[in-house]
Amino acid sequence: MKKDVIIIGAGIAGLTAAIYVLRAGHSALCIEGANYGGQIVNSPEVENYPGYQNISGFDLVNTVFEQAKALGMEYQNDKVLSVKKEGDGFVVSGEAASYEAASVIIATGAKRRKLGVSGEERLSGLGVSYCATCDGMFYRKKDTIVCGGGNTALEDAMFLSNFCNHVTICHRRDGFRGEPKLLEQLKEKDNVSFVTDVTVDEIAGAEKVEKLIYTDHKTGAKGEIPANGIFIAVGQIPDTEFVKDLISLDEAGYVIAGEDCATNVPGIFAAGDCRKKPVRQLTTAAADGTVAGLAAAQYTE
Ligand code: NAP
Repeated sequence: MKKDVIIIGAGIAGLTAAIYVLRAGHSALCIEGANYGGQIVNSPEVENYPGYQNISGFDLVNTVFEQAKALGMEYQNDKVLSVKKEGDGFVVSGEAASYEAASVIIATGAKRRKLGVSGEERLSGLGVSYCATCDGMFYRKKDTIVCGGGNTALEDAMFLSNFCNHVTICHRRDGFRGEPKLLEQLKEKDNVSFVTDVTVDEIAGAEKVEKLIYTDHKTGAKGEIPANGIFIAVGQIPDTEFVKDLISLDEAGYVIAGEDCATNVPGIFAAGDCRKKPVRQLTTAAADGTVAGLAAAQYTE
């Protein structure tokens, strides 16, 4: 049956959009290709979402999911392959089925970027990981490296430092994008050190990770950091490939949509980390979900 609004992606943006569509009196089907929750489920501690001094990303998003379900959100686990305009609505085609709606909200977020260095692919799962929360415990009392300088890298390093022997933060610049408060907390830890202004050349190891090899930008010298585990947190790639022929994306693949969340195609809206915008936080994802949800609801009237 044709829905009023289909929301693709069940992270904080998509789930918030569902709440607003439903409260505006319209039907909402949320389609998610993986588990609901989005990237924040990998954050063990969230301390910058109003209303909670400290909550795990999983607990936070679980509450929002239950809230949307209680309002009547329909939920489908399916990987969306395409969205097409048909008549006065849209057909969303997934691996399992096709779905119809008057309006569509793209809230697919982004996935972790790879470093793209020698050894990374081969040693993935053998010491190379993209999720500290998922794999960190394997490195209890061991030495780990976190690559990156954003909030994810700093949060990963903080999490790992609670039980690893040592954590080295390896970053390509001296400056960090992540929150200064978190950076200061890490600098005070005895088992955390920094290797900055370097390029990672290789992740080396015969059958599992043994070390990271880098070049120092200032001296040009090669260096090595021995490690059992290497966590890559060097940013994200938007999950928008499936709509690249329908709506306008920027050169990095983010959906071009303004603060009204409207794309260049009437009836399609974008919310959360997949939208081109300067600040990507849980709060701004929720804000996008609100705007896109209300706009999509209005569009169907
Ligand atoms: P990010 O903020 O884009 O940071 C990516 C980091 O990786 C940057 O330091 C960047 O270096 C580095 N990098 C990028 N490409 C690289 C490459 N090829 N080789 C080496 N280093 C590379 O990504 P993020 O940390 O995943 O965070 C994404 C968004 O989510 C951000 O807006 C962040 O604030 C937000 N976030 C929020 C929370 C929270 O609210 N609790 C938690 C996690 C993330 P440069 O700095 O030199 O560019």
